[in-house]
Amino acid sequence: MNVGFIGLGRMGRPMASNLCRKGFRLLVNDVNPAAMDELALLQARPSGIAELAAGSDVIVTMLPNSAIVQDVLTMAEGVFAHARPGSIVLDMSTIDPEMTDALAAAAQARGLGFVDAPVGRLASHADRGESLFMVGGEPGHFERVKPLLEAMGTTIHHCGPVGAGTRTKLVNNFLAVASCQMNAEALSLSQRFGLNLERTLEVLYGTTAVNGQLKIAWPAKVLKGDVAPGFTIDLAHKDLSLIVEAANAARLPMPMAAAAREAFSAARARGYGGQDFSAMVDAACDQAGVAKARLSD
Ligand code: NAD
Repeated sequence: MNVGFIGLGRMGRPMASNLCRKGFRLLVNDVNPAAMDELALLQARPSGIAELAAGSDVIVTMLPNSAIVQDVLTMAEGVFAHARPGSIVLDMSTIDPEMTDALAAAAQARGLGFVDAPVGRLASHADRGESLFMVGGEPGHFERVKPLLEAMGTTIHHCGPVGAGTRTKLVNNFLAVASCQMNAEALSLSQRFGLNLERTLEVLYGTTAVNGQLKIAWPAKVLKGDVAPGFTIDLAHKDLSLIVEAANAARLPMPMAAAAREAFSAARARGYGGQDFSAMVDAACDQAGVAKARLSD
């Protein structure tokens, strides 16, 4: 199977690398030439988008946001204009679900299949080929992209028709990202009280207050002083904005999501946007004027 892969960033690079290592022939594209060079070392072929689309059975997009996915798919020299009828577009980015619906309809009108399969878990899981995928699409299309998903991850959920993957992702990221803000406030309060961080964490890990971010992700990231992304505060803010806006369109109030989104806005305004989303605790401590929460070695 020939695979086109567009978007070789923090997530796309390891995902495409895992496809190469597992024997798929890849055409790759990114606006950053250095990202393509890295994939070329694994025998992937750097390519323009039109050529990539024309030469691929499945075209994967792993791009930052809705506007960029729309552009890459619908522009004159884009994927829809050049893909062969019968090919499948597999969008793995986290975007607005109404955009997913519109792009899927446009793909269908051109005789192309469309599957949305946003990615769960951390960037470090993508490095190891241990991602989780939330998939929306027709059963026949799902079966065709399944071998690719199996090469990039360990857990695949077919959530329903096109758009169900993206919508499941927003439900997931509401909890994952909003809980990050709760953790940030909790640890900045602990710092303000002058408590011992190790002791505080031991208590939290022993009660129902615990969550995966605080217990598994943070001790290896921000609490050790590592704020390299990972998943950036900018992207988490984008997801919270998608969540608040999608809920608004569906006439569903989400007060915690709205408050968390504004906390992420404040962190971006203080210059934290490019850091890992666990650095929300640094932003909270910074705002409060207390020492950053760090575990001793
Ligand atoms: P990233 O910013 O690291 O990577 C995006 C890549 O797209 C970059 O290499 C960029 O150069 C490229 N790009 C931008 N515009 C382009 C264009 N017009 N044509 C071709 N390439 C273009 O982002 P990421 O962390 O890899 O995230 C990608 C998507 O996956 C986002 O929607 C994000 O929300 C989602 N996601 C990220 C994580 C994570 O932990 N980082 C986890 C799950 C889902």
